[in-house]
Amino acid sequence: MKDWLVEIRRTIHRHPELGFEEVETSKLISEWLQKFGLEVKRGMAKTGVVGLLKGKKPGRTIAIRADMDALPMDEINQVPYASQIKGKMHACGHDAHVAILLGVAKFFSSIPDQVKGNIKWVFQPAEEGGAGGRIMVEEGVLENPKVDAIFGAHVFPFLPVGKVGVYEREGLAAADRFTIKIIGKGGHAASPHVSKDPILAAGHLITQIHSIVSRNINPLDSGVVTIGKVSGGTAFNIIPDEVELLGTVRSLRPQVREELKNRIEQVIQGVVGSFGMDYRLDFEYGYPVLINNSEMSKLVASACSKGIGKENVEVLKPSMGAEDFAYYLEKVPGAYFRLGCRNEEKGMIHPYHSSLFDIDEEVLPFGVEMFVRIVDQYLGLEIA
Ligand SMILES: [Zn+2]
Ligand SMILES: [Zn+2]
Repeated sequence: MKDWLVEIRRTIHRHPELGFEEVETSKLISEWLQKFGLEVKRGMAKTGVVGLLKGKKPGRTIAIRADMDALPMDEINQVPYASQIKGKMHACGHDAHVAILLGVAKFFSSIPDQVKGNIKWVFQPAEEGGAGGRIMVEEGVLENPKVDAIFGAHVFPFLPVGKVGVYEREGLAAADRFTIKIIGKGGHAASPHVSKDPILAAGHLITQIHSIVSRNINPLDSGVVTIGKVSGGTAFNIIPDEVELLGTVRSLRPQVREELKNRIEQVIQGVVGSFGMDYRLDFEYGYPVLINNSEMSKLVASACSKGIGKENVEVLKPSMGAEDFAYYLEKVPGAYFRLGCRNEEKGMIHPYHSSLFDIDEEVLPFGVEMFVRIVDQYLGLEIA
């Protein structure tokens, strides 16, 4: 299958589409699924595609999921399949996810008589911040037929191709976002006593906010607070009226998530109040924590081990990144795992979202095999 998979991946790679605009990608997917004789449903979450293979014998329903969106950035790789669209690039490997799932569809649709239960293919838009996964869930992707378990994978440049990584429980963090506006009173830089300097308050606040993780969160729990943007002021001799801070908060447990949110507000109140200023805080919840079902994680490890040996399946520590696959896992048991795509010799060593990101395409047939083994074991087909 490898050449066919590479062709599909490269076609998508050349024509990257951003979240909720994956029109051509979803068309390509639908056409293949139809060719394979699956039931196809289009238009979920705008550009989402769902394929269904009903087995000849009754059984459980398993879903597997791929995301389809690219990123708003330029590719600088000099390869024949490089992005042909300026300002857009598949720098997170979602092109590979689509190809892999189509490979799994090609495989099982060639042996429909041996399938018992149902296999559902979920191709979702907008993983990169648009929460396409949440919309798919809200629009009922886990119903009709009701999904009993769901599996998703992401290519992983931190493991060599041929290896699988799996999370026992927590895999990725809850990722929330905040905007703080410190409201002071502008004036001449030479007369700070008749102004209220929001830049000084911002300086104190930035320092103080970083004490939350170190002093308020249990050292055995995980939390991150990062301020990623500071804006305020126009010239060297003006005290501005306002300063704005943008940041993100990451956590692996709901209690920590709430604690961080509450402490951030308390610290702002205290620090900004001590300068006699006002503030406005907008706190926006993002993707929830991604939590694998332990049994399903074990199933992934055992199914993959059958093909590649235990020594090639690694248990990974959670990362403080985020994934909208978390929304599916809030509703049904399942597991999210990683497919190594790193190849030092070929120079495929760059991290996600780098303009040099690329994958060793051996991960395509490899990923198909891993998914086939997982589906096989979950549905009890005994063909792999
Ligand atoms: Zn990404
Ligand atoms: Zn991604």
